[in-house]
Amino acid sequence: MGRPLTDESSEEKCYCIEATTGRRFRFDRFPEFRQTAPNKYLARNLTKHQAKALAAKLKLSGYNVILYRNIWNKGNNYRRIFLETQPDPCRCVYCGKFFPKDSITVDHVIPADLAKRSSLTRLKLKKLGYESIDDPRNLVAACHKCNSRKKNLNLFRYRFLACFGRYDWFWRLRLVLLISAGIAVLFVTGLIISYLLSHPVSEIITTIQQAIEKTMLKIVDRILGE
Ligand SMILES: [Zn+2]
Repeated sequence: MGRPLTDESSEEKCYCIEATTGRRFRFDRFPEFRQTAPNKYLARNLTKHQAKALAAKLKLSGYNVILYRNIWNKGNNYRRIFLETQPDPCRCVYCGKFFPKDSITVDHVIPADLAKRSSLTRLKLKKLGYESIDDPRNLVAACHKCNSRKKNLNLFRYRFLACFGRYDWFWRLRLVLLISAGIAVLFVTGLIISYLLSHPVSEIITTIQQAIEKTMLKIVDRILGE
């Protein structure tokens, strides 16, 4: 019995292969690829059949290979499409400041690299109903400074700001809380200073000494009592 024939032309061309190598890339053997970063090469729009065959060939030649659907790759015009829906100037979700649209970057909350490498992340994105990594719910506006610094933020703070930093009410509430915290600190400091001024220092030291002595005596009593 022969192998069942598959009609490759009817298969959807929705797969990508990313190859990495520290050596010179053999474009003569793999003309489907183009360089996307130093040591990184990409072939897009392959059928599952083509992608699997190519990945096996690359692996045999010593390349590191990952295979994933096109949708987990960043598109070419996600920035333009996302910014069309945003006001100008646009707020950076990480610092809350406003920037002109043409100087702001668009950040992927769940990075494309993570989606490409982790099947768990892809599953999570699918469960959330994301059509692709460029789904508008996965995009936020960020200024250049914050986008380059976001790796220094801890994951919780990063996700928190990515989730709430897009809303004006969040920044207003933050301002109100900061002012309230400042007033509370000033009030408590004022109380402490007024207490210190109304009691001589020697009296305060005596009160502390008496409290320590009382505690020590209680401890000694408890030890002797046992
Ligand atoms: Zn910023």
